[in-house]
Amino acid sequence: MAFFVGLPTSAEDFYAMGTEKLLDYLKDTARVNAVIIAARTFHGEAGYETHDKYFAGTKLRDTPSALKQSGFDILAEITDRAHERGMKVYSHFLSYDFAVPAADSETNITLDENGWEVLPNAKLLNLSQVLEIDCFGRKGMRPCLNNPDYRQYHLSVVEDQLRSYAIDGINFNIERYGPISNVLNGNGGSAHGRKPLAATCFCPHCLESAHKRGIDLNRAKLGFLALLEFSERSWQAALKDGNPMAAPGTPLCANRDTSAPPDGYFIEFMRILGRYPEIAAWNQMWHDNMLSLLAEVHGTAKAVSPGRKVGFHVWHPRDYSPMERAMYNMRDMRRFCDWIKPKMDHTCGGYRYYQNIKRIHQSLFYDRTLQQAASVMNAIFDWDVADYERLPENGLGLDYLEKDTKAYIADVFGEVPIYPGIGLDMPSGPAGSMHRPCEPEYVRDGLLTIAKAGAQGTVLSRGFGEMQRKNLAMAGKTIDEINSMLCVGEKYDS
Ligand SMILES: [Zn+2]
Repeated sequence: MAFFVGLPTSAEDFYAMGTEKLLDYLKDTARVNAVIIAARTFHGEAGYETHDKYFAGTKLRDTPSALKQSGFDILAEITDRAHERGMKVYSHFLSYDFAVPAADSETNITLDENGWEVLPNAKLLNLSQVLEIDCFGRKGMRPCLNNPDYRQYHLSVVEDQLRSYAIDGINFNIERYGPISNVLNGNGGSAHGRKPLAATCFCPHCLESAHKRGIDLNRAKLGFLALLEFSERSWQAALKDGNPMAAPGTPLCANRDTSAPPDGYFIEFMRILGRYPEIAAWNQMWHDNMLSLLAEVHGTAKAVSPGRKVGFHVWHPRDYSPMERAMYNMRDMRRFCDWIKPKMDHTCGGYRYYQNIKRIHQSLFYDRTLQQAASVMNAIFDWDVADYERLPENGLGLDYLEKDTKAYIADVFGEVPIYPGIGLDMPSGPAGSMHRPCEPEYVRDGLLTIAKAGAQGTVLSRGFGEMQRKNLAMAGKTIDEINSMLCVGEKYDS
C-alpha cells in the first residue's frame, strides 16, 4: 500500500495555474495521491453547484464564490482529471467558526473596531439564527454546534457534495476550543494575546443537552462565572504589569483585585473545579456534542455511498493544550472515521506551543515564573524541549513528531490510519512572519520520522499557495524513499 499523500488546495490555485498543470505538478513533484480541495471556503462560500433539494432541513445556505459565479465549478473541474491520473479527490469541509481578536491573527483578515474578526461566516446566509449564547445571555460570534439547524447544514453539504459529484470523500475539520479554554485563555487559534471570554453555550439546545446529562444548569452557570472572575484576575494583573501577552479589553466581572490568591493561582483553579464540578462536565459535554456531529457526518456519508471515505483533521491545540488534550480522545473518534489527520506541523508548532505556554502561565501560574510553567507543560506532554525561549526558532522537533504519532496510533489500537500533517512553509509568527523558515531537510526529517513511527501517510500542510517548490520537491523525493521501503516490506529502524 502506497503512502497516503494528501495536499490541501483551493479553487484559486487551480484557476491560477491551470487544472491539468497543477494536478501533474502535484503528482509528479510531490507524489500527491489525494487532492484535498476547499470546495467550500471557511467563510461559507461554495465553489461548486449547490442543490436546494438537499437543504430542506436547514435555513443555512452558502453563497456562491466569485469563481463559481464566473462558471468555474471546482469539483466538476478537477474530479475526473484527478481520477485519470490515479489521484483521489477529498472535499475539505473546514467548519472554521471561531472569531479571532486583532492580536491573534496569523493572516490578514478584516477586523472590526473591537478587534474581532468580521463575522467569519458572514457569507453563510441566516447565520444569526444559529449563534451561540454566552453565560450573560449575549449572542456569541460563533454558531452553536448543538443547534439542530447548524448540524443539519453540515449533513446537507456532505450529502449534496457526495450525491452530485464523483468525489472520493470528505476531509472534515472543526477548529474550536472548549468552554474551559475559552474562559481561561481567550480566543483564537494561536492567540498572540490573552483576553478571557465568557463561557458558551447556554442556548435552549445546549440547556436541554445538559439537562439530559443531569448537569445542574444554574450551578454550571455560577461555576463558569466564578472561573471567569478567576481568569480575569490574572489577566488584569498582567495588563497592569504591561505584559504583552495580555490583550486589551474591558473585564466582564466585577472583581478588580489583581493580587495573587494566597495559595497560588493553580490551587485556586482546582478549588473552583472542586466546588463546581459542573464546569468539567459542561466542558466534556461541549466536546461530546461536537464528536456526535462528526459521527453524524460519517454516518451520512456512508448512507449515501458506503465506499466513500471521511477523514477527520484534529487541530493543533489538541496536542499542546492540556485542557484540549484531555477533552479529546482518539479511541472515541476511531469508531466513525476512515483516517485521522493530527495537525502536527512541527516547524510552526514551536511558536504555537511557546505562545500557549505564555497563555497558560498567565492563566494558571502567573505567580510563578514562565520557566516553571514551561517545565510543567513539558512534563505533561513528555516533550524534549531543552530551551523554552528558543522554541519559535527551533520548532517542536522530531521528538514531538515521533512520540505523538505513536500515541495517536496506540490510541486507535492501530485500527484507523494516522496521517500526520507535515507543514511546508506555514507561518510561525504573527501575520505570516517566520521565526523558523521551512527548509527541505526539515520536510525530509519530518516525513521520515512519522513513517518510522508507524504513520501510513501524511497531509502536506496547510495549503499549496504558501509552499515553496524546493520543499514540495523534497517531500516527493522523501516519499519515494518511504514507498520503496514499504514496497519491500522493510521495517524502519531509527
Ligand atoms: Zn448552544
